[in-house]
Amino acid sequence: AKQKQGVSCLRYAGHVDDHHQRLLLLENRLRKAVEERRIKPFYQPLFCARSGQLMGVECLARWHDEELGWVSPDEFIPLAETANLIGKLGDSILEHAIIVAQALHQNCDQKDVYFSVNASPYQLSEIGFVDNMKALLERHQLPPRLLKIEVTESLFIGGNLQAINVLTELRNLGVGVALDDFGTGYSAFAVLKEGCIDMLKVDKSFVQNIAENDQEKALMTEIIQMAHIMNLQVVAEGVETEEQKAVLVGAECDILQGYLLAKPMSEADFCPYMNCNGLK
Ligand code: C2E
Ligand code: CA
Ligand code: CA
Repeated sequence: AKQKQGVSCLRYAGHVDDHHQRLLLLENRLRKAVEERRIKPFYQPLFCARSGQLMGVECLARWHDEELGWVSPDEFIPLAETANLIGKLGDSILEHAIIVAQALHQNCDQKDVYFSVNASPYQLSEIGFVDNMKALLERHQLPPRLLKIEVTESLFIGGNLQAINVLTELRNLGVGVALDDFGTGYSAFAVLKEGCIDMLKVDKSFVQNIAENDQEKALMTEIIQMAHIMNLQVVAEGVETEEQKAVLVGAECDILQGYLLAKPMSEADFCPYMNCNGLK
């Protein structure tokens, strides 16, 4: 038995080593990709639940590495945060999104489609975040109301006053702020009352079972009603079936996002989707 334990220990050590090696490799490749601005957004449309009209687009970072293939943002975003690369990565996604949003606003029929960009707490706490955004909006002449920033509940842990100030400044600029992954984290009620958020994105885990489970359907209905009392628009994430969509429309959800309606797509696919010849 002792010997067996030794073997499994060795194996375990090897495993940790592999994991560590991959992290190191990833970090090096990531640093290079960020430097070279090779991480680009994909675009996932969001629709009005009632009319089906296109309302907005979420920008989702995508990274394809020659050696590693596609790496998921669930892997590289946390790494960018710990490797101190998120500021640069976030800025490049933001600028890219603003350029595409402006081109769409200028050249396409659907003029009022908003662009939503994810921002990690690290990025928001960087000095100059708001000034930089203001400069980008001016340089590319995008009306601020067409930009939204998606933040998560973790931003507010410990009553982060600085974060609330940054969000308030964004709102004063005219930029929207959505609270992402609602329901998964730290209680967000205090945050909602601060008044610096204008949209709630209910996490996909709350959408998953609403068609089969009456309790979860009732919970979703309550969340939507509460949000409306607070003058917040509600987005349901991860809508995958017609049944889920029907429940959400019945519960007066405002906006739907999910594979049922449209998947995230590259800029090359997004242009024809939007009936646009080119975005730059
Ligand atoms: P998120 O902000 O919650 O983004 C929604 C995720 O749900 C995306 O995953 C999207 O592809 C996926 N999704 C959309 N519709 C469906 C559906 O119907 N079913 C299911 N199961 N999933 C759906 P993705 O693109 O892999 O991104 C993962 C997370 O990485 C994002 O979650 C966000 O937290 C983070 N992320 C992505 N891009 C950025 C970025 O530019 N900056 C920062 N800070 N974080 C980002
Ligand atoms: Ca998001
Ligand atoms: Ca989300």
